[in-house]
Amino acid sequence: MSERTTEHAMHRIFTDHESNVRSYCRNFPAIFQSARGAILTDISGREWIDFLCGAGAVNYGHNHPALKRAVLDYLADDGLVHGLDLHSTAKAQFLEAFQSHILKPRSLEYRVQFTGPTGANAVEAAFKLARKVTGRRGIVAFTHGYHGLTLGALAATANNYFRGAANVTMGDVTFMPYDGWLGAGVDTLAVFERYLKDPSSGMDLPAAVVVETTQGEGGINVASVDWLRGLADLCRRYDILLIIDDIQAGCGRTGPFFSFERAQLKPDLVTMSKSIGAYGLPMSLVLIRPDLDVWKPGEHTGTFRGNNLAFIAATAAIETFWVGTEMVRTVRARAGELRESLRAIAAHHAGRIEPRGIGLLQGFACDEPALAKAISRAAFERGLIVECAGAHDEVIKTMPPLTIGSTELARGCDLLREAVDAAVEGRP
Ligand SMILES: *Cc1c(COP(=O)(O)O)cnc(C)c1O
Repeated sequence: MSERTTEHAMHRIFTDHESNVRSYCRNFPAIFQSARGAILTDISGREWIDFLCGAGAVNYGHNHPALKRAVLDYLADDGLVHGLDLHSTAKAQFLEAFQSHILKPRSLEYRVQFTGPTGANAVEAAFKLARKVTGRRGIVAFTHGYHGLTLGALAATANNYFRGAANVTMGDVTFMPYDGWLGAGVDTLAVFERYLKDPSSGMDLPAAVVVETTQGEGGINVASVDWLRGLADLCRRYDILLIIDDIQAGCGRTGPFFSFERAQLKPDLVTMSKSIGAYGLPMSLVLIRPDLDVWKPGEHTGTFRGNNLAFIAATAAIETFWVGTEMVRTVRARAGELRESLRAIAAHHAGRIEPRGIGLLQGFACDEPALAKAISRAAFERGLIVECAGAHDEVIKTMPPLTIGSTELARGCDLLREAVDAAVEGRP
């Protein structure tokens, strides 16, 4: 880029040459250059506090020094970067660390399947395996659920904006009401069970249920522990596999490493992506209950299943953050501070916004989508990146790095409060 290329001209590069499909960049129209921890910096040196964190792909903040060191050392040694699914020292180290620091202390037993590097591909693999194991076709997903946008996963994604883009039949998925979807007081699992019990309900016995313990894209809907346990029990009683999609809520986002730990679940299959690669490096996997691992070699393959640089970063993250319980306590402390700040903001605007969420996956619902949009825009103007989620994009979703300090979190919350005040009063 020549020195004389102005910021304006650089913006033209994107509008002239990049597909219309681009999206986040429309809401946050800066040209970013560097990032460290919770701070994003643009080409003119302007800073933003990042409450988006790659939609949960950089839970440990940007360019964390411990992870960067591991990645740089590996590159300096000419470590194998691309390796299909060949055995490598980097992969062995990751599997070892994941086994001894993540699975073993939680008494979980899983085989690890590395899939193509997107979350959607992990979901595709989990569905394919569940169908293969059971010989059944149906998947039950939930209202407001989000599982990715390739066709198999899209069939289980509820939002019709995304579904409408496919223009093909998307079958074999039945949607059931998520916890709370029919209003407080209504036991949505009873609705689900009614379908399962009645041979004339029109729903065939499904191969699997796929669920997020807290819906991220769907607007931060937190399923209760009772509901999650009830769902696991229902699956057991009807011999349906339980797939937890922990792509967004996992890797400590809600506190514990796995989001389902709060309900003490032992899902049959777990999908992980986003922050499992720790440094924003693409990596996805499916955790498979050992007796369900009926794949034949290469049945679900892909060129980029062996991102060894991601294995290195992932291993460093496990060793840095997940040996012992400090991370869980840190997230709990920051989550409490975030909750207090959001409550204080909401108290000022009772009736218009309502806080919700768990861990560092919190936010608030606005009484109208236009308000959420205005808040996100006003926040950006003030130096805070925060996105909208939910069926109507009416929810403000705050996802600061798990590693953010108290002071920086408070600063981000101050900016959010100013943005809310301005948006409510119709100021920019
Ligand atoms: C982001 C996400 C996906 C899809 O991951 P991609 O990498 O975008 O394909 C699937 N499930 C959940 C819960 C997600 O948040």
